[in-house]
Amino acid sequence: ATPTSIMVGTGKAAESGILFKGGEHLEKTHQLDAIIFDKTGTLTKGNPEVTDFTGDENSLQLLASAEKGSEHPLAEAIVTYAEVKQLQLDKADSFETIPGHGIKAKVNKKAIVVGNRKLLQDNGIETKEEEETLKSYEEHGKTAMLIAVDGELTGVIAVADTIKPTAIEAIQQLKAQDLEVIMLTGDNETTAQAIAKQVDIDQVFAEVLPEQKADKVKEVQLQGKTVAMVGDGINDAPALAISDIGIAIGTGTEVAIEAADVTILGGELLLIPKAIKLSHATIRNIR
Ligand code: ADP
Ligand code: MG
Repeated sequence: ATPTSIMVGTGKAAESGILFKGGEHLEKTHQLDAIIFDKTGTLTKGNPEVTDFTGDENSLQLLASAEKGSEHPLAEAIVTYAEVKQLQLDKADSFETIPGHGIKAKVNKKAIVVGNRKLLQDNGIETKEEEETLKSYEEHGKTAMLIAVDGELTGVIAVADTIKPTAIEAIQQLKAQDLEVIMLTGDNETTAQAIAKQVDIDQVFAEVLPEQKADKVKEVQLQGKTVAMVGDGINDAPALAISDIGIAIGTGTEVAIEAADVTILGGELLLIPKAIKLSHATIRNIR
């Protein structure tokens, strides 16, 4: 392999906004068999907005006050929604994040639990009465969260994120390049499937806890495949590090960018098939 052609290749890539940390990653990109995409902030824009809320104003005030302690994009959407409604938010007396499930907080002496079915059930709250509502939101690709105040269900809040405009085209190109395309998310199965369908991905790993994301990458590698992982979040960093080629979204967190081998500027997904094309062209020149 001539170092010169690798340098030319990484230089060309950089001009297009594909930043390889080293030439060896450009060479490795040529061998990829599978590519795993994180959902939120990677396939979607990562600016979720509240679309539906079934509770009253009082429960929204408590819910949003509780979520003020969370840095999750879902929490941001909920806080913004309450602020637009001019609700005065309180400072929580205590706050706890349950990764992959939701949050628990004390606000104005009331115990608030917000999150998925499992979190509420784990806290002894029956969720069956809201099942139909949850399901209908999820089938539309929304993330629906249950809200409980002092052990009583008070409503459901649904949040939706927009798919990046070029996601469909990027995935189509990757498939044409013979890559197996997979989606990986902490979100529930129904929501994940709905989003996957919109971008034409047929393999989905859903309800994966943050600490299990890397295990899923390993699982695909153990099938003998060379695997790329694309992600933006702190949660994705271990998966990016363990993958053969970690691809960070330029608009994502610093931690993800550090853990990755390549960064795509602006989070433009079309740069991924482009990187693969460049890698093939470079290897052809070497041989
Ligand atoms: P993702 O991979 O989409 O970032 P996470 O693992 O962070 O997902 O979260 C998984 C699920 O946990 C969410 O779909 C939601 O139901 C719940 N959850 C996470 N954070 C919060 C929060 N701050 N408030 C309510 N629910 C949350
Ligand atoms: Mg993400």
